[in-house]
Amino acid sequence: MTPPPSDRTPRLTTATPSTCPDLGSLPYAATPDSDNRRIRLYDVLPILSIHLVGIAAVFTGFSWTAVAVAAALFWARMLIITAFYHRYFSHRTFRTHRVTQFLAAALGTTCAQRGPVWWAAHHRVHHQHADDHPDPHSPGLKGLLFSHVGWFLTQRGQQIDWSRVPDWRKYPELVFIERWHMAGAFVLAGALFALGFTLQHTAPSLNTSGPQLVTWGFGISTSLLYHATFTINSLAHTIGSQRFNTGDDSRNNWFLAIITLGEGWHNNHHFYPGTARQGFYWYEFDPAYWALRTLALLGVVWDLRPVPASVYRAAQVHSLQRTLRAPFAKATT
Ligand SMILES: [Zn+2]
Ligand SMILES: [Zn+2]
Repeated sequence: MTPPPSDRTPRLTTATPSTCPDLGSLPYAATPDSDNRRIRLYDVLPILSIHLVGIAAVFTGFSWTAVAVAAALFWARMLIITAFYHRYFSHRTFRTHRVTQFLAAALGTTCAQRGPVWWAAHHRVHHQHADDHPDPHSPGLKGLLFSHVGWFLTQRGQQIDWSRVPDWRKYPELVFIERWHMAGAFVLAGALFALGFTLQHTAPSLNTSGPQLVTWGFGISTSLLYHATFTINSLAHTIGSQRFNTGDDSRNNWFLAIITLGEGWHNNHHFYPGTARQGFYWYEFDPAYWALRTLALLGVVWDLRPVPASVYRAAQVHSLQRTLRAPFAKATT
């Protein structure tokens, strides 16, 4: 069974691309596949540097204060990536005020995963061509490592296809954030240094310092955030179960759901990306959805798109089909 047609994901087009004069545009259709594989050293330096900052924790030492700061920043920023960069900017599964939209976009840049326009532009291509050309990060087409960490280091991966995000390019504040996205990482690192320096002199019993909070709170936390996020592009298309026949390699994986606050129900998501939920049942761990429900109660977001009844019926049909096929599958093994 194919996904319902009305998934509320914005309609995508490969027609003549709109461009952004200041940031350029590189449409997927115009990019040779060879350019999708060539990795430039220059583009590797930012992510490599952040890993090296984390490794420098060997020299700045350990404290529970630093661990707590790193953990808090990991989970808080994972929530921004899952709830806003993915479910809002990429799929528009709920609505919010323009100020909240701006704040989510700006705070998201502290994750050093570019701005939400870049993020959404590539992700929409992924959904339109999942595990087929020109999906930017299909492990079945380009290998597990490339889908995890290689694709965004290519010329294609570094650029934005503005034709994919006509809904966001009309906001000058989002284009501004996209242009200055690297500032977020520096602001976070600077704030952590200032906090650590202050604590070192006002609360020495916490055993921390400016360099220590930078290495743990920025270096280690951001590196872990990178790889947890990247597993959805790599492992969530490789390891796990398939509730729905989506025609791609997407999987449901409970472990990935835990480390990404609910994004591991990736086969659910590929079947129906137009809902704010990714765990379609109460027992499927999806704290990003719970956080969105809480924000909705507070009036910060609204119009959370539900899972339609037709999707639950489709799940029952797929379950029944698997049950009926099981004896035949055993007989042939
Ligand atoms: Zn996917
Ligand atoms: Zn998605």
